[in-house]
Amino acid sequence: MKKFDPARDIETLQYSGEHRGVNPSITDSSTFWFDSAETMAKTFEENTGNYLYTRHSSPSIVYLDKALAALEGTESANTTASGMGAISSSLLHFCKSGDHIVSSRTVYGGTYALMKNFLPTLKIETDFVDITKLDQVEKAIRPETKVLYCEAVSNPLLEIADIPALSKIAKKHDLKLIVDNTFSPYIMAPAQWGADVVIHSLTKYINGASDAIGGVICGSQELVDSLRDVNTGATMLLGPTMDNVRAASVLKNLKTLAIRIKQHSQNAMFIAEQMQKEGIRVIYPGLESHPSHELISEIGNMEFGYGGMLTIDAGSKEKAFALMEEMQNRKLGYLAVSLGFYNTLFSSPGTGTSSEIPAEERKIMGLTDSLIRFSIGLDNNIEESYKVIKDCMRKINIPKLASY
Ligand code: PLP
Repeated sequence: MKKFDPARDIETLQYSGEHRGVNPSITDSSTFWFDSAETMAKTFEENTGNYLYTRHSSPSIVYLDKALAALEGTESANTTASGMGAISSSLLHFCKSGDHIVSSRTVYGGTYALMKNFLPTLKIETDFVDITKLDQVEKAIRPETKVLYCEAVSNPLLEIADIPALSKIAKKHDLKLIVDNTFSPYIMAPAQWGADVVIHSLTKYINGASDAIGGVICGSQELVDSLRDVNTGATMLLGPTMDNVRAASVLKNLKTLAIRIKQHSQNAMFIAEQMQKEGIRVIYPGLESHPSHELISEIGNMEFGYGGMLTIDAGSKEKAFALMEEMQNRKLGYLAVSLGFYNTLFSSPGTGTSSEIPAEERKIMGLTDSLIRFSIGLDNNIEESYKVIKDCMRKINIPKLASY
């Protein structure tokens, strides 16, 4: 069997542009003309190899689809206009009225709100479980369950999903395992461990420039064909299609993802180790103190490290706010949501990107208002960056572990 080597597969996907351009030409059309009316009519019914209309597909979108399928080692991929477009379309593809989802309780706030508030209006219910407790996962499955949903590395608590074990449970109960791999491209390869569908918000690491919104559903050719079915397909009919110009720019950024992820991981590991030495309460999957450090070391592609995301506990909401403002004033990075940017970003998930999760449930899962989520940047001199963080932590008097 061919070795799974997504970085190499993406490098060797080369499409020449017009006049031997080294980048593929950008499709600048929303519609495509035909010589024959008969072929046009046929194209509505089956794949004739012709493009018809850009909401269905276009060369620029197909180039990106193919590169993203290579990233996850899936047969095919369906690029979407946002991560939420990918999540909502795939859930609505697999779940109809009366169906049920079992989801990790620590998922992105928007995903949580979709399952908790929006899908029940269509009579699709979700039970949220601690995804690291496999007995809880299995207990929540009902006869009408169709989907098991989780994030490979969760937002923001950085819990690690045991994808091989979850895939076994999904297969046993005939469920589709959908894994959001936004936090860990290249590091985790969910489809290689049995996930049926892998989702990304391209907005984050894959694009890496915080200048675009995008998403993708990676899976079998059969899945992508049915998502794009003109009569019944979720992406075809809900219409979350990415614009051609943006698809071309995301593809160019994807080409440098492998080296960016390594640098993000290296920098985050350095910061996490220093913070731990300093006695700060830090969560990072690369630290042995992380409860799933062994699991990620076993199932992750460690050539790419443990990722660029870490969290710290600042002791209180007031200290968390003050520290973030101070770090921004010192030009360490930006007080901004999102992740995967070349500069460091920090935000308070309890009062921001996870605020959709009710306070009571946040408390149970340990998502406190004193938590700061860092997306560590590509800083060339991370030692200098850490000196700034340390100065800021001292000024705000961030409590050490010993004081808890
Ligand atoms: N999945 C995860 C893990 C996220 O963090 C986000 C956004 O923050 C999304 C999905 C949604 O992606 P988008 O904002 O591109 O719709």
